[in-house]
Amino acid sequence: MKPIPSGRLVSTHVVRLATRKRATRQLVQVFKALQGDHTHPFAHEIYRKVHKKLPRISLATVYRNLHSLVEGGKIRTLLLGDQVARYDPETSEHDHFICERCGRVSDLFLRRARRIDLTSLARDGYVVTTHNVTVYGMCRVCAARRRTSRPLRPVARKS
Ligand SMILES: [Zn+2]
Ligand SMILES: [Zn+2]
Repeated sequence: MKPIPSGRLVSTHVVRLATRKRATRQLVQVFKALQGDHTHPFAHEIYRKVHKKLPRISLATVYRNLHSLVEGGKIRTLLLGDQVARYDPETSEHDHFICERCGRVSDLFLRRARRIDLTSLARDGYVVTTHNVTVYGMCRVCAARRRTSRPLRPVARKS
């Protein structure tokens, strides 16, 4: 027979289990919030979504969970012109299109027919892990809008 743990031990164990359960639930909700979301949201946008399901979750916890999902290769993070991390449930190699009018970021699956020659980088001592293409222009919605109405003033590009 197993020794019966003291009451204190039991409660610590229960608390620890509950904490772990909560942590798992939080991680799952953060992961779920990103699934099917191809807008490449920022952490605070994901937080707003998760917060509806788990009202007690903090932004810091959302950040921590996003970080461990990135570490585990479950999601990807990307830094575009704004230098604030966006999160991406699409983990395969892909590129992005940024609309200069509305700021929408779309996934691009370009056929990489011609490879960019990066051998000069290696010669200069760089170690290349990956590279991707960011295409700028106007998304379909903005392009269609421009065709049907008078031209809008383009949004100022942040430098
Ligand atoms: Zn647009
Ligand atoms: Zn993407």
